[in-house]
Amino acid sequence: MSTTEQRVAVVTGAARGIGAATAVRLAREGRAVAVLDLDESACKDTVEQITAAGGRAVAIGADVSDEAQVEAAVARVERELGAPTILVNNAGVLRDNLLFKMSANDWDTVLNVHLRGAFLMARAVQKHMVDAGFGRIVNLSSSSALGNRGQINYSAAKAGMQGLTKTLAIELGKFGVTANAVAPGFIATDMTAATAERVGMGFEDFQKAAASQIPVQRVGTPADVANAIAFFTGEAAGFVSGQVMYVAGGPLN
Ligand code: NAD
Repeated sequence: MSTTEQRVAVVTGAARGIGAATAVRLAREGRAVAVLDLDESACKDTVEQITAAGGRAVAIGADVSDEAQVEAAVARVERELGAPTILVNNAGVLRDNLLFKMSANDWDTVLNVHLRGAFLMARAVQKHMVDAGFGRIVNLSSSSALGNRGQINYSAAKAGMQGLTKTLAIELGKFGVTANAVAPGFIATDMTAATAERVGMGFEDFQKAAASQIPVQRVGTPADVANAIAFFTGEAAGFVSGQVMYVAGGPLN
């Protein structure tokens, strides 16, 4: 890469929440950013935040669990921004329920978005990383990877993200590519707001209850997670690979 060439990042699920904060943060680090989410028009706010600050970004509509859409999306990123060498697999959904009430569809949806999505995106982007002799992959895991009542689908997917990350690190290391996982605890986003609603609590009370169980006595913000992702995607992080970093305001393992 010449000193003037800008690295291109793809952030999935970047219309809002942790993905949006990450896209904005990576743009601030000097990356051109593909803001990818299910609905292209929903990516507009994130793209505007980046371009208003002088950055380069493009909105891409794609379902990460759909093979053809992923291939087309990555081809579009290459055409419109350049070959992507940074990938943040952040897109996610919840379909919580206790085991005896969980449908096979809800199992499939969650496994497909998180695991199949991360696999398809990594497979589509790796050739650009290999060609460049440089790559940074960050996968969103979760504290739920350690087990969480009502989340048999999600905890399996998020534990799976850790295995996927370690194998990416092993297979792609010799091409200058690192892969790491960031595993957030409670982060205040639409996702946790929806959980509060599902359990019949106001979001404020839900956050207060969560904060009381967290050593630093507060819930996390999307920026807290974006900070960790910025570290792993940085030029200087080339000797850190296959790791899982919990961003949870206290120790988890
Ligand atoms: P969010 O629901 O606010 O945002 C998720 C985004 O992913 C949405 O914009 C959604 O449209 C997009 N998305 C969903 N399915 C998609 C698909 N098939 N293709 C493309 N985009 C899709 O969630 P968030 O809280 O910002 O979470 C982001 C990531 O962090 C998720 O992987 C989530 O599991 C993980 N995480 C969140 C928390 C938390 O407390 N919020 C904790 C641990 C892990």
